[in-house]
Amino acid sequence: MAGSTPAQITVGVLALQGAVREHVDVLRRLGTEARPVRTPADLASVDALVIPGGESTVIDKLSRAFGLDEPIRAAISGGLPVLGTCAGLIMLGDRIQGRAPGQRTFGGLDATVRRNAFGSQGESFETDVAVPELGGPSMHAVFIRAPIVEDVGSAVTVLGRLNDGRIVAVQQGRLLGVAFHPEISGEHRFHARLIALAREAAGRG
Ligand code: GLN
Repeated sequence: MAGSTPAQITVGVLALQGAVREHVDVLRRLGTEARPVRTPADLASVDALVIPGGESTVIDKLSRAFGLDEPIRAAISGGLPVLGTCAGLIMLGDRIQGRAPGQRTFGGLDATVRRNAFGSQGESFETDVAVPELGGPSMHAVFIRAPIVEDVGSAVTVLGRLNDGRIVAVQQGRLLGVAFHPEISGEHRFHARLIALAREAAGRG
């Protein structure tokens, strides 16, 4: 109804390991309900999901232990909007380079993601990344043992690159993948895009 408040969107943050609190804070600052997701029932109650940074091998193991891996795969195929940052980007990749033995991902993003792409020299660094698709000035980006996107399929839009051209932010349909940590620098544009995708998916756009 014109002039009415749009129905509330609830965004889940996968809370098995990693930078959960920071994402919840960004989402709440945007005025969105945010809650941790630890069980299939939690997952079923959200309109979108953030997969945080941390350690992808641990997120992989714990998601299997908690019986969340297959439900997350099914939700991704069913069109759940998902934002994956750093380890979360790795978890969305269909193809991984530098994978640990037996490591699996949820997949969904037609991309090859290289883990720990910056080696020991570039374990952690900060730089600016232009993200023209999301509008506004360049983003201040914090990279921590970060991956990069080596290549993408034709359905993937590149949202951001380093100055040397390497891909660090992508979108494919309702999936967003970011190699750095927007939640650490208070950057909210990816979360805002995720919420917009969730509203669209829920027909409340
Ligand atoms: N190197 C980590 C991994 O492979 C990702 C680091 C991060 O999320 N900050 O999962």
